[in-house]
Amino acid sequence: MSRLQVTVDHGAITRNVERLRAATTAQVMAVVKADAYGHGLVPSGRAARAGGATWLGVAQPDEALALRAAGDTGRVLTWLYGPEVPARALIEADVDLSVSSLPVLASIVAGAREAGGTARLHLCLDTGLSREGVRPAELAALLDAVLEAQADGLVTVVGAWSHLAWADQPGHPTIDAQAGVFRGALEEIEARGIALEVRHLANSAATLTRPDLHFDLVRPGIAVYGLPPVEDPSGEGFGLEPAMRVSATLALVKDVEAGRGVSYGHDYVTPARTRLGLVTAGYADGVFRSAGNRAEVAVAGRRFRIAGRVCMDQVVLDLGARSEAQAGDEVVLIGPDGPSATEWADAIGTIDYEIVCRFGCLREKTSV
Ligand SMILES: *Cc1c(COP(=O)(O)O)cnc(C)c1O
Repeated sequence: MSRLQVTVDHGAITRNVERLRAATTAQVMAVVKADAYGHGLVPSGRAARAGGATWLGVAQPDEALALRAAGDTGRVLTWLYGPEVPARALIEADVDLSVSSLPVLASIVAGAREAGGTARLHLCLDTGLSREGVRPAELAALLDAVLEAQADGLVTVVGAWSHLAWADQPGHPTIDAQAGVFRGALEEIEARGIALEVRHLANSAATLTRPDLHFDLVRPGIAVYGLPPVEDPSGEGFGLEPAMRVSATLALVKDVEAGRGVSYGHDYVTPARTRLGLVTAGYADGVFRSAGNRAEVAVAGRRFRIAGRVCMDQVVLDLGARSEAQAGDEVVLIGPDGPSATEWADAIGTIDYEIVCRFGCLREKTSV
């Protein structure tokens, strides 16, 4: 039995996608990579479709195939692989494929021959992130090879895309610089006679803050799960609803006097007579060790900081002398009735993406 209960409100995912759709005239690709940021690939993909996502996006080819195996028949794009990409299986599964390099193109062309089909390609452009994507100087050579394969009926270019480095700082000069490089590359592609069905650049932050960069398709991820990628100036969190809730139960409570050291190394010492509560979830369950003495949880609506070090399978809370908490009471680590993933991230010096991935990836996969 998992010591943490991770539950996902898939209705919130549907409503979040509806809100993102209302923010754009472009199509929406819900990014469901990394097991939908820990929220469960298949149910999250289904929920995003119900909200109007005409595309789903995944980094790993396996995830695209898993969506198909689960019955998803809409457009799906996968983008992160080397020449070992299982191109034949992806083409047979009617998955759109990103291409960044000649070796990957060669694998896709070979896969198309084996499948007896045509691969739908999205040219991935490195406009300044220096991660996946072809650099502008190498685009012409990639286009030569792509057009040759297209003439043979093995591929057809349907998209061109790139990814922003600083989208979470809407005024950052690199955004316009990358958009300029992107537009230049689009012109170069179209000048070669390629008619692009979808041009796409915007992640969640750019979807919510840069309508001028939506092109034909936006690719929100974190916002789909209800976490605002930037602060909403109106303080409304863009109307997004966090979909993940993480909870545990108190296994034991006990009353102790002032001056008791708590957990390994006694990093916390009770300042007064108090009631301690034991939660049987630790870093093996996804509770970051760095959360000790920093992150908060909620019991019956009240917040308590984790007292002392996080152990492998347990943490201790200082519930206060007047606490009426009992063994069996619920402890909310993340949820509408407790801290947000963003508060956890701020407490331990990371981003909320890592918080939901961590709790989600270590959870018992019960919600599929
Ligand atoms: C992860 C990812 C996204 C989604 O980013 P968010 O910041 O979660 O909205 C979009 N596009 C690509 C290429 C990605 O890797």
